[in-house]
Amino acid sequence: MTNRMHCLLDTSLEFLKGVGTKRAELFKREFNLFTYRDLLYYFPYRHIDRSRINRVSELETEGAFMQFKGKVIDYTNAGHARTKRLVARFSDGTGTIDLVWFNSTRWVEDLLSRQREFIIFGKPTLFNGHWNMSHPEMLDPKSQQNENQGLNHFQPLYNTSDRAKKSGLDSKAVSKIMAELLTQVKGHIEETLSADILQQHHLLSLGDALAQMHYPVSLASLQQATNRMKFEELFFTQLKLLKLKLLNTKKIKGHRFVVVGDYFHAFYRDHLPFELTGAQKRVIKEIRADLGSGHQMNRLLQGDVGSGKTITALLVMLIAKDNGCQSCLMAPTEILANQHFDSISKQLGDMDVKVAFLSGSTKIALRRELQEQLLSGEIDILVGTHAIIEDKVTFKNLGLVVIDEQHRFGVEQRAKMWKKNTIPPHVLVMTATPIPRTLAMTLYGDLDLSVINELPKGRKPVQTVHWFESQRLRLFGVMKREIELGRQIFVVYPLIEESENVDMLALMAGYDNMSNEFPLPRYAISMVHGKMKSEDKEFEMQRFVKGETNILLSTTVIEVGIDVPNATVMVIENAERFGLSQLHQLRGRVGRGGEQSYCILMTGNKLSQEGRARMNAMVGTNDGFEIANVDLKLRGPGDIQGTRQSGMLDFKVADLVKDEALVVYTRTLAQKVLEEDPDLQMEKNRCLAMQLQKLMSKGGFWSMIS
Ligand code: ADP
Ligand code: MG
Repeated sequence: MTNRMHCLLDTSLEFLKGVGTKRAELFKREFNLFTYRDLLYYFPYRHIDRSRINRVSELETEGAFMQFKGKVIDYTNAGHARTKRLVARFSDGTGTIDLVWFNSTRWVEDLLSRQREFIIFGKPTLFNGHWNMSHPEMLDPKSQQNENQGLNHFQPLYNTSDRAKKSGLDSKAVSKIMAELLTQVKGHIEETLSADILQQHHLLSLGDALAQMHYPVSLASLQQATNRMKFEELFFTQLKLLKLKLLNTKKIKGHRFVVVGDYFHAFYRDHLPFELTGAQKRVIKEIRADLGSGHQMNRLLQGDVGSGKTITALLVMLIAKDNGCQSCLMAPTEILANQHFDSISKQLGDMDVKVAFLSGSTKIALRRELQEQLLSGEIDILVGTHAIIEDKVTFKNLGLVVIDEQHRFGVEQRAKMWKKNTIPPHVLVMTATPIPRTLAMTLYGDLDLSVINELPKGRKPVQTVHWFESQRLRLFGVMKREIELGRQIFVVYPLIEESENVDMLALMAGYDNMSNEFPLPRYAISMVHGKMKSEDKEFEMQRFVKGETNILLSTTVIEVGIDVPNATVMVIENAERFGLSQLHQLRGRVGRGGEQSYCILMTGNKLSQEGRARMNAMVGTNDGFEIANVDLKLRGPGDIQGTRQSGMLDFKVADLVKDEALVVYTRTLAQKVLEEDPDLQMEKNRCLAMQLQKLMSKGGFWSMIS
């Protein structure tokens, strides 16, 4: 029985009445839908309330589907040949709309000659001051009344593509097919939540919820269905993450790093350029406890910009080396990876530790050589980009994976790294930008957490101000004062790819402006931008790093770039064009030495409300967590850097911002369920276990665990 039901939803779409091979092909190609189940979960983006009759006199805006009831007063044929059209004047007693049909109008004329009263349905548009509706749906008010008592009040609207529409697969066609599908699968949809949970939370059954998502009987039931689907998405996400975490700490065998040996100690004694902060020491202890436990570590290291995560990771990589294991460190961009490679190589100095670099642009010959050295164990630490994830990159004995990222990796991607050794390597994820709680719970819900909540000694919080263009003279004053004191200054211009040329002009104009204000020989300016050859970029950067220039003008290339403790001013031009987390990252470039530092946000006098909110947040706090929370509220999780790629956040109905309470709630519930029944063996949890297994096998890492 169970099996048969299972099979029905897995049926290929071509077998559904009204679909066939051609449309099935379209569903596959255009919407990525293959089976009955896929289509069932293809939810409408909106419903039209067909129970409401609008009035023409109340029409205000274009763009919405509406329904009117009235009479066709008159109709005429207009235009010739290709512009031929039929125009009918329709009145509902409060105003008139011109109904327009192009091309084949025969059937309309037939219809209009027989009948005058209609309910018309379509999208009114304003043309020459008069309301028009092209190709409206024409319904008989009498038959419509009958239908209104049925299920068809709310008509679902589905997203389709131009290509699909051209082949006749428009929203209407999809809704017809959906109606057929719902009839077929009725009674065959297996429940995924336990009776317990359904009852306690007053949730619709999955079958009812799915039906109501497409064809709700009322707004209230659409709401109920949406709630149920959100609950489902969030609850199982949490159940999966927590189950994984449970398996990690209880079941998955890990490399046992028992010694903290010569490499660690030698580095600590002879190469560490400063005293570690208390927070760094504590975090290393937390990590060491994991490494010695015999289970695989999966830990998140959170710490604001400049808190010193890299050196912490390096020390942990040396522990791996002390225990005969290799490590790798992955960064989201080539620039950042390169910077890690340079700084790690420099910090290790003459120590007998081999560090190598691998990215997408590494030449094939070099790649082969690296691959050999990785397999022979010659390379101790591999630094690079996501290129390291590729299956063909293999190690002799990989024991530790460090991911320095900006929330770009979900569980599934991390799990890919687990496969690089027979005993899965320990995983340490570092976040440069702190992220809001709901996002963290979802992206990193399977990880243990360590926090570096302390900046290195002697750092003063950066003072941030927001000035308008009209205050530019004041800006120059501050810049001159700081230069007199021997300090250096970053000036950053926005760079958005689509308008690269415009941005280039802004940067050049800025350069002219600054060169006028800060002329040679008294002052020196470096400039760096994305269009420069990398040698030239490097040369200009180096001039600034060495203190030969006072000001570094650049596009955002330095966002993840250089470390210049003598720089005390960060000027951000057109600051309104940057996202909040980006602004916070940029600000983190100053305040690294012992001097008081400043971040000056320059904007035009006109600011959007959101732009103003961003400036206020920056001026109001230096706390990255607070910044991240504001960012999430302003932009939504889908837009926060890199979350899209992670695949972890593409919920169909849930929304991590709006449904924050439900995220927290379902996590607590999932926790309770697993506390009572860690292996989900109790009869009442049978459907949870089945659904979970399905979800986990999808990620491809269930096999590694069981
Ligand atoms: P992030 O956490 O943003 O990745 P980094 O690891 O890049 O920060 O460190 C920022 C700067 O602080 C680097 O120049 C690093 O050498 C320095 N640093 C790290 N730890 C300490 C410390 N305990 N004392 C002084 N400087 C430190
Ligand atoms: Mg960093």
